[in-house]
Amino acid sequence: MYKIPLAEIKSKIVSSGKLDSTQLELRIKGKINELSGLISEEGAAHIIANELAIELVNPDKDRLKIKEIYSGMRRISTVGKILRKFDVREFSKGERKGKVCSLLIGDETGTIRVVFWNDQVDQLSSVTENNIIIVKDASVRDNNGSTEIHFGENSSLDINPEGITMDAVRQSLSYQRKTIEMLQPGGETVEIVGTVVQVFDPRFFNVCSQCNKRVNEVVNGNEKQFQCAAHGKVTPSVSYVLNLVLDDGSGNIRAVFWKEQTNKVVSKMETDFLLFKDNPASFEDIKTDLLGEQFKMGGRVQKNEMFDRLEFNVQSVEKARPEEEIARLQQQ
Ligand SMILES: [Zn+2]
Repeated sequence: MYKIPLAEIKSKIVSSGKLDSTQLELRIKGKINELSGLISEEGAAHIIANELAIELVNPDKDRLKIKEIYSGMRRISTVGKILRKFDVREFSKGERKGKVCSLLIGDETGTIRVVFWNDQVDQLSSVTENNIIIVKDASVRDNNGSTEIHFGENSSLDINPEGITMDAVRQSLSYQRKTIEMLQPGGETVEIVGTVVQVFDPRFFNVCSQCNKRVNEVVNGNEKQFQCAAHGKVTPSVSYVLNLVLDDGSGNIRAVFWKEQTNKVVSKMETDFLLFKDNPASFEDIKTDLLGEQFKMGGRVQKNEMFDRLEFNVQSVEKARPEEEIARLQQQ
């Protein structure tokens, strides 16, 4: 059974014209009684839709709109425009190491995250924001209450397919806004808005140019070389991370910006940012510019065990819009 929100099941049944909402409520109660209360209201609504031959979902349809995608579905296909490409994250589970990267795609009906694991992440190297993609034969899962498409071994990806354009894309990101004092480690992506109160020097490090994992220099005989666990001897690329402390009046938190988000927060291209590596003094001007700036960020809260503090792992960043923030305050 797919996880379709109860309100949506009800509205689909009512819009079929076979029952009005009062009749539906009665029939749901009746169904729950009939089954001695062993099913939920959702379960009852599902059964009633089935009895009335109302199709709640159509997983056989060639391509689903994002609104038609529910967790529990398998082998679905959809098309969307990439609104965000998040940084690759590495993780280790015991002996096993892996990486994960996700895209936020949108169509005219909504937005959804598409998650790529391990080797599948490599397919995203040429993918950028605003590309249109068709995802085929992927499964849909629930992650802490949000629906995600998971790209699997049998899934396929079509980048900028010919003849497909997308104009009216819903841009709204459904991140929940939190104040900094409310932040707890783990869980979903949340949104915060804060003012930069401290800027640290960027740190540069070497990564494998194929998989983006960090590589270390090892000495092999007389030769120094970079060794990737997966790809052996490699010519590394340079990546970087920037830490800022942001304050929103309720508290402050250290926010961690990996390469793509760093480029956005300082409005620089990668090639320009790399100049700071050999000329750290020139970064002082950037620090001055950043201090006092207000940013809106989406990301996940993590506990840095080594320093026993919370950190905000930034996945998207843009300049805060004061008029938007004022409107939000007035609504509360
Ligand atoms: Zn590698």
